Amino acid sequence: MKAELLYEGKAKQVYRLEGTMDQLVLSYKNDATAFNGKKKESFDGKGRLNNEISSRIFSFLHDKGIETHFIEKWNENEQIVQQTEIIPLEVVVRNLATGSITKRLGIEENTPFDPPIVELFFKDDELNDPLINDEHALFLSSVTESELQEIKEKALKINVALTELFQSINISLVDFKLEFGRLACGSIVLADEISPDTCRLWDLNTQEKMDKDVFRQGTGDLIEVYNVILQRLEDLS
Ligand code: UDP
Repeated sequence: MKAELLYEGKAKQVYRLEGTMDQLVLSYKNDATAFNGKKKESFDGKGRLNNEISSRIFSFLHDKGIETHFIEKWNENEQIVQQTEIIPLEVVVRNLATGSITKRLGIEENTPFDPPIVELFFKDDELNDPLINDEHALFLSSVTESELQEIKEKALKINVALTELFQSINISLVDFKLEFGRLACGSIVLADEISPDTCRLWDLNTQEKMDKDVFRQGTGDLIEVYNVILQRLEDLS
């Protein structure tokens, strides 16, 4: 059973899991938002797809030795996670240039980044999640210098694991966003979700976009492409 609603974001609700002090229920909504909430639409089945996809990816990362908040998938739209205090940083890893970096730095679309680029954004809707540097991150969050290095190293390790996973289902992992959280014991683990809402996923053969860009750009059927991602992940197991 769920107890009280603790938080409601654009894509998820967060409840306390009844009978526990430190476990949460993440309830995935059907809403899709883009451009900081300016574009919004609801898609039947989106919550189920992201819950399923993110559960599979977090289990995969756990098996690769990466510590996460994920405990288990609970039902169609919900999963149980360890409570953390979310660090207000969006950690973006880029393998190929697209999206905001091409406009900001005038980099040609599809330019490969080798080594991959890690960027930090301050998680603050009112400020439009600005790009920040390490010193800003140390000032704006509770992380220490060595924790910040640890976060970046983890992000790159996750990139290696996920690039391989997606390659095995014929998808190019172009870029993605991670969030980290602090457990009560003080250590920092991967939190939030990893799904087509938070990654750019392109079909390796056709270059077709299989992620939230189809909604952002109005170029395709969100449910159809999220379904393909889940289907290919399911076919792996
Ligand atoms: N991203 C995200 N949430 C955000 C911003 C970005 O999940 O609030 C993801 C996005 O899906 C992409 C990556 O982070 O996979 C890099 O996004 P970018 O900075 O290029 O932003 P955009 O072009 O979407 O503004």
